Amino acid sequence: MTKHYDAVVIGAGLGGMSAAAYLAKNGRSVLLLERHNIPGGYATTFCRGRFEFDVSLHDLSAIGTPAARGSLYNYLDYLGVADKLTFIPMTDLYRIADKNIDFTIPSGRDELMEFLISHFPKQADGLERFFETSKAIMDDFGTVIKAASMRGTDLDPAALPMFVKYGMKTYQEVLDALVTDEDLKTVLSPYWGYLGLPPSKVPFHLMAAVWESFLDTPPHHIRGRCQALSNAFIESLTENGGEVRFNCGAKKILTSGGKATGVITDDDEEITATTVISNANPLAAMINLVGTDAVPREYMRDLNSRIPGFSLVNIFFGLDCPAETIGGKVHENYLNFSANADPIWEKAFTLDPPEGIFLTFYNMTDPDISPPGTTLGNILLASYARPWYLVPPDRYVDAKNRFADAALDVAEQFHPGLREHIEVIEVSTPITNMRYTGNIGGAIYGFDQYLSDSGLLRLRHNTPIKGLFFASAWTIPGGGYQPSIMAGSIAGARALKMLL
Ligand SMILES: Cc1cc2nc3c(=O)[nH]c(=O)nc-3n(C[C@H](O)[C@H](O)[C@H](O)COP(=O)(O)OP(=O)(O)OC[C@H]3O[C@@H](n4cnc5c(N)ncnc54)[C@H](O)[C@@H]3O)c2cc1C
Repeated sequence: MTKHYDAVVIGAGLGGMSAAAYLAKNGRSVLLLERHNIPGGYATTFCRGRFEFDVSLHDLSAIGTPAARGSLYNYLDYLGVADKLTFIPMTDLYRIADKNIDFTIPSGRDELMEFLISHFPKQADGLERFFETSKAIMDDFGTVIKAASMRGTDLDPAALPMFVKYGMKTYQEVLDALVTDEDLKTVLSPYWGYLGLPPSKVPFHLMAAVWESFLDTPPHHIRGRCQALSNAFIESLTENGGEVRFNCGAKKILTSGGKATGVITDDDEEITATTVISNANPLAAMINLVGTDAVPREYMRDLNSRIPGFSLVNIFFGLDCPAETIGGKVHENYLNFSANADPIWEKAFTLDPPEGIFLTFYNMTDPDISPPGTTLGNILLASYARPWYLVPPDRYVDAKNRFADAALDVAEQFHPGLREHIEVIEVSTPITNMRYTGNIGGAIYGFDQYLSDSGLLRLRHNTPIKGLFFASAWTIPGGGYQPSIMAGSIAGARALKMLL
C-alpha cells in the first residue's frame, strides 16, 4: 500500500523545492514529484560541446556579504542549502550602452550614487530623492508581503504612507517626477527586464524591490551555476527525510468535499496526502489537475482575468576566446536600451528583428565557468509566445535562427568579432520554456506583473480548495529566484500551519 504523506509537492522548480525543503526541515513527511529528469525548473543547466550553460541565472539577489547576510542567504542557511554553495559577488551592476551613452554602473549604494552624481551633477537632488523613495517604499512593501501571505490580516493604510502614495504608480511616473535627464533615465531603466514589463507599465514598487535587493549588497552568481542551487535544495530535502521522484509528473490532484486529498501520477499511481502544494502553474493546476468542476467559479474567473506573462528567446553561446578579445568587460550588458523601452517590449509580440539585447559574459564573475581561454555567454531577448505559436513546425528552426541572427547583428555593433568566435550556439524560445516547465506561454515570471497583478493584488498561496497551496513565480511576491523561493517558504509555512 502506498504511504500517506503530510505533503505532496508537484514540481521541483524553485518554489516547489523551497516548499518541500521547508516542510521536511520542520519534520513533515514530504514527497516531491518532478516531471523532468533533473531538479530546478528554469534553474537548471545543459551541456553543448565543452560548455555547460546556465538556463536562467544571471543575477541572484539578497545573498549579502559574510558581514551582513541577506534575507535569501538566511533562509537558505536555515534549510542547510547555503553551506553547500559558493556565492560569487559581481563587481559591477551592469553596462548600459546605446549610440549616445556607454556607462558601466558600479555595485554598492555609495559607489552608485557617487558615480551617477559625478556624471549627472545637475540631477543630484532628484537622484537622492529617487533612491530615498525607493528605499522607503520597500519598507512598506515588506509589510504588505507579510500581510498578503497571511489570510485575514488587515492592513492599516496610515502605517504604510509610501505604499499608499506610490503603490499604484508605474516606474515611469516616479522616474519622470524626480529625474529630468533622458540619459539618466536610460541608465536607471534596464532592470525592467527582471520584471517583464517596460517602465511605462511596471509598478514602481517592484522596480524599487530590484534596486534595493542589489544596492546594499552586490548581486551574485553561484559556483556550479544555478544547477548547484537546485541540487543543494534536493540534498537538503532528502537529508531531512523528504523524498523526490524525477520523471514522475502528477496528472491529477484529488479532491473530496472541497479538500485536497492527494495526487495521481503520470504512471497512474494514487498517492494520498493531507496537503498538496503546486509549483505547476495555477491555471494548469486548476484546469488540468484539479478540474474546473471542483473549483469555485469566481476563483476561475479571477485566474482567467490575469495575463500569463513575459518570456524570452535565449541565445546560449560558447566562444573560443576570452571575452576581452571582443571587448567584453562586464558580466551584464544592456545594449541598445533606451529610457523608452516600449518599442523593445512591443517587439516582443512579433518576430521582427530585436532592438535591445541583454548580453551576459559569465566569465567576468566566475573566470572558471568555462574551459581556459573560452567564454560562456548568452543573449536574452524579450519575446512572448504568441508569435511563435503561429510558426508552422517545419519553419520553427529557421524562424528562431533568423531571430537569433538579427540579435547577433546588434551584439556585433558593440562586440565586433563575436560571431566568428562562436564555437557552440543554441537558441531557445518561449516554446522551449513551455516544453521544459509546462508554464503557459513559457512565462518566466508567472502572470505579467501589472499594477493590477502585484503587491496585495497578486495571486495568494492558499486556494479555495482546503489543503491545496500554490508556490511559484505566479504567486506573491512574483517572478525571479528570490521571489519564487520566498513563495515556496510562504506556501510551506501555510501548509505547516494546517498540519499542526
Ligand atoms: C532565461 C531566463 C533567465 C532568467 N534570469 C533570472 C535571473 O537572472 N534572476 C532571477 O531572479 N530570475 C531569473 N529568471 C526567472 C526565474 O528563473 C523564474 O522566475 C523562477 O525560476 C521560476 O520558478 P518557479 O518556482 O515558478 O518554477 P518553474 O521554474 O516554473 O518550474 C516549475 C516546475 O514544475 C514542474 N511541473 C510542472 N507541472 C508538473 C506536473 N504536473 N507534475 C510534475 N512536475 C510538474 C516543471 O517540470 C518544472 O520543473 C530567468 C528565467 C529565464 C527562463
